[in-house]
Amino acid sequence: MREKDIAFFAVTNADANALTFQASLLEAPLRVAGICLDDTMNINNWQVPKSEFPSLVSQMNSGKIRIMTDHADSVDSVIGKITKAWVQNNQIHYQGEVLDKQISTKIERGYLTGVSIRGTARKVYCAECLRETTKEKGCKLHPDSGIIVSGLTLREISLVVSPAYANTSIYPLRS
Ligand SMILES: [Zn+2]
Repeated sequence: MREKDIAFFAVTNADANALTFQASLLEAPLRVAGICLDDTMNINNWQVPKSEFPSLVSQMNSGKIRIMTDHADSVDSVIGKITKAWVQNNQIHYQGEVLDKQISTKIERGYLTGVSIRGTARKVYCAECLRETTKEKGCKLHPDSGIIVSGLTLREISLVVSPAYANTSIYPLRS
């Protein structure tokens, strides 16, 4: 019951509007936690090496990384933000907050369980021969090999239905 933090006091009618306004500002977000990335090759055939993790974690700890839905670059898709991140067992773990009633309910009920990161890469390599390439071209010598991305600038983390990394998660954090 997230609403229990909102205290209601006996007020005069004159104060009622102001209190309603205050209460909406004080609506507590759902605190969430989970895993957003690991160092394996994902199903889209790209991989973030562990050497990128400290930079990603520090970007996530900046307080500027949003939680969104479906990587949709729109105001409506912004539902929260990452509050904390760290590396553990070759995975990046995170905590965050979500302020969207419908999405929060879907997380609490376990309808939504996966996330996905979106960012830009300064360099892209063939996982086989480590030659620099682009995501679009891939490696001519190893067309079936995956690619490794580096120099990542993180844009956001989205709730998605089918995450590229099987082990990602999002769940409510109970205090
Ligand atoms: Zn290659």
